[in-house]
Amino acid sequence: MVLNVETLKKMARAIANTSNDEIGCDDCFEFIDIFVESELHGKNPAEAMHLVEEHLNHCMNCREEFEALLDAIKATSEKND
Ligand SMILES: [Zn+2]
Repeated sequence: MVLNVETLKKMARAIANTSNDEIGCDDCFEFIDIFVESELHGKNPAEAMHLVEEHLNHCMNCREEFEALLDAIKATSEKND
């Protein structure tokens, strides 16, 4: 998928429309991909991403998933460079 400002804005709005401030693991997994992309491309993650960070701070499951994914992608991009 293409990551751009419009996508991030759309996500931020979708999250803002949820009834409470916290996202669940299912939502989190979807956003982790985009979060990782943002990190790797040196973009400043949009407002929405802080919800992912919040979730990662108290959900070990998603945190491990996130870190594993980040490591895997970093390893791949280092090889490619
Ligand atoms: Zn979770």
